[in-house]
Amino acid sequence: MIQKVLVANRGEIAVRIIRACQEMGIETVAIYSTADKEALHVKLADEAVCIGRPLPKESYLHIENIISAAVLTGADAIHPGFGFLSENTKFAEICAGCGIKFIGPTAEMISLMGDKARAREKMIASGVPVVPGSEGKLTDSKEAVYLADQIGYPVILKASAGGGGRGMRIVWKEEDLEKAFLAASSEAANAFGDGSMYLEKYIVKPRHIEFQILGDSYGHVVHLGERDCSMQRRHQKVLEEAPSAFLSESLREEMGRVAVMAAQAVHYENAGTIEFIVDAKGHYYFIEMNTRIQVEHPVTEMITGVDLIKEQIRIASGEALSFRQEDIRFKGHALECRINAENPHKQFRPCAGTIEKLHLPGGRGVRVETALYEGYQIPPTYDSMLAKIITYGETREEAIAIMERALGEIVIDGIDTNLYFEYQLLGTEAFRTGNFDTGYIEANLAAIL
Ligand code: ADP
Repeated sequence: MIQKVLVANRGEIAVRIIRACQEMGIETVAIYSTADKEALHVKLADEAVCIGRPLPKESYLHIENIISAAVLTGADAIHPGFGFLSENTKFAEICAGCGIKFIGPTAEMISLMGDKARAREKMIASGVPVVPGSEGKLTDSKEAVYLADQIGYPVILKASAGGGGRGMRIVWKEEDLEKAFLAASSEAANAFGDGSMYLEKYIVKPRHIEFQILGDSYGHVVHLGERDCSMQRRHQKVLEEAPSAFLSESLREEMGRVAVMAAQAVHYENAGTIEFIVDAKGHYYFIEMNTRIQVEHPVTEMITGVDLIKEQIRIASGEALSFRQEDIRFKGHALECRINAENPHKQFRPCAGTIEKLHLPGGRGVRVETALYEGYQIPPTYDSMLAKIITYGETREEAIAIMERALGEIVIDGIDTNLYFEYQLLGTEAFRTGNFDTGYIEANLAAIL
């Protein structure tokens, strides 16, 4: 069993991981930048090591400093959380080389799935439905034009190395394709150090539905149901739920089976997510696999009773999964609202500041994941997510009612937040009826505000 975990992250996910370790009797090491001296994860961990200056590349992305901190403190494992180095092949390789267990899949799997064009090729070969488009990477813009002609417009150009909703470009007609290809490819080369592109048919108004996967080192793979993340703004998730209000029982079962098949095809180990988009007719297509724990993992935990972080640690310790697919029971409904430091009335511009007053909600069915406390100064350097409010109810209606009540209780003074925006979104006819797609927020922004 792993004895001591270094948490290579900050904010709410670092706190979440530290808490799971404490409950398992595992020692914890926090790392922090000079901007995070007063951060909650530093206060909660058994030990803490400063690893550099505020800029991520000088601290939370600085592999040598993080490995040194692990060696110095005698940590035998590193949990990368999400973002930062969580999907960095080199980091996973160096951990392995130093005899430190990386809590996640192998470097090889991260590299395969991180190259989205290669992952697509692998899925095609494994019989997993993908959006019609290129087999692998495009060689040039001529190939893009030829393929787009065959599958029909609109199409979406994507960077193989892209992520976080960046590196994508929708093209509606042939005369725009060549120019878009050249621009997108050079943008990707600048942003990700890799300009290779692939192409998919652009599915108009899809749902985003993803399946949580767990795989152990003995080849057992299970899924823990889906999350519906169709409420998005600029390809970024805003409000998530499990189960999806859109899937029929038979489609859910089929997609779950395909998700397990996709993970088995790559001998997937640890926690991962198979993302699909689903069109209005219920045709579903693999878009990518995320090889890490995700922001929205708590909604799955609420309806399955499985602690995904603890499972990640057990799997990394070499334990076999303690349950089979048929042992997993789904119960109730869970929602997650992402509370960000941003102003919806000013193009969602992120902001920094001091938390002058804080009151967090509680009561039956409410779970809060946050690293905030009163008096905390939010550094301007990092992600703007402040808290995740998760609610659980027997039914979708109950989970919504609890969320409305919980959001109404929250007080966060001192900075702008999207609290009221989330509240308004919950009240929309579209959300109430479950009838929305990934374009809903952008198309109805003025009405929601
Ligand atoms: P990233 O890795 O940047 O998150 P994804 O490939 O997961 O990129 O796509 C992010 C979002 O972009 C999806 O949730 C969906 O809203 C949209 N998207 C991606 N591919 C398509 C497509 N072929 N058609 C329509 N929308 C798409």
